[in-house]
Amino acid sequence: MSLLEKSEIIKKEFETDRAKAVSDAKPEAVEALRVSYLGRKGKVTALMEDLRNVSKEDRPAAGKAVNLIRQFIEGSIDELKSQARSWELAAIINREPLDVTLPVDEQKQVGSLHPVSIVRQQLIKVFRSLGFTVVDGPEIDFDFFNFSALNIPDHHPARDMQDTFYVDAPEKMLLRTHTSNIQIHTMLNERPPLRVIAPGRVFRCDNDMTHTPMFHQIEGFVVDENITFAHLKGTIDTFLKAIFGSTLKTRFRPSFFPFVEPGAEFDVECGVCKGKGCRTCKDTGWIEIGGCGMIHPNVFEAVGYDSSRYSGFAFGFGMDRIAMNRFALPDLRQLFEGDYEFLGHFPVHSN
Ligand SMILES: [Zn+2]
Repeated sequence: MSLLEKSEIIKKEFETDRAKAVSDAKPEAVEALRVSYLGRKGKVTALMEDLRNVSKEDRPAAGKAVNLIRQFIEGSIDELKSQARSWELAAIINREPLDVTLPVDEQKQVGSLHPVSIVRQQLIKVFRSLGFTVVDGPEIDFDFFNFSALNIPDHHPARDMQDTFYVDAPEKMLLRTHTSNIQIHTMLNERPPLRVIAPGRVFRCDNDMTHTPMFHQIEGFVVDENITFAHLKGTIDTFLKAIFGSTLKTRFRPSFFPFVEPGAEFDVECGVCKGKGCRTCKDTGWIEIGGCGMIHPNVFEAVGYDSSRYSGFAFGFGMDRIAMNRFALPDLRQLFEGDYEFLGHFPVHSN
């Protein structure tokens, strides 16, 4: 058999084998095909070796034919190799079918809400349901809004009740010591009827187990005609029951704050001992929550309201204390250390 005839047969065999490899659609089949034709003991390799036995005069023609076969087979195999990649993909898809209706894997690391944020969101929800609007205001403020307008004039002993951070500024400025500055801003900008809450950060020079230099307060106030202490009691009672549970008792104790008259503090029955007395409530059966009272006529005077026509009440309390009670935290400072492990124990959503 001449080399040319042999070449033709090998080409035909290759075409049959290639068709088989394509129907197998496996990368291994392509590799096997390459080895059996172009490998060291492959059919094309043997054909090249046979060229040596061809007579000198026939060699150029035979060589050309063998080269054409080799190029054809090499080209075919390169083509098959690139096809093999899509076969591999198809194999993976068939092996692991995609079900687009499957639920997404749960996120391993998802953030959680800060306990104070949880409390703030719950408080806002309760007060909104009572018709209050939420306002914001400056954390760095003039002495006037934080003290003077709230019936705490210069040298008034009440200023000693709150250790203040003063800011070095041409006019007397400070980090607000309570959210009550919002009362003055709001009353100057708007007219009654007003029903407002103002949650925010406040600052005092204080740092121990139950005090931090920055903490969170929420201020609330109502101004309208014919507002009485009964409205104040009803509002405080409603929100305490919404936050701490409707079975716990609430109480008011007379107290003094310069910007209210009369003033009171309000407590909720200790949820741990249900009023019997325990360590949490220092054996009193009560948890102190905050202060409140009827807005002092001097405050109305400072903002230009007619105190013979309008009356109102105001209240304020620490949101951090509520978070401590809600989540049974022994140390207030835990709230501000940013410990990832500690914060990870709280829920992602507030409701
Ligand atoms: Zn107790």
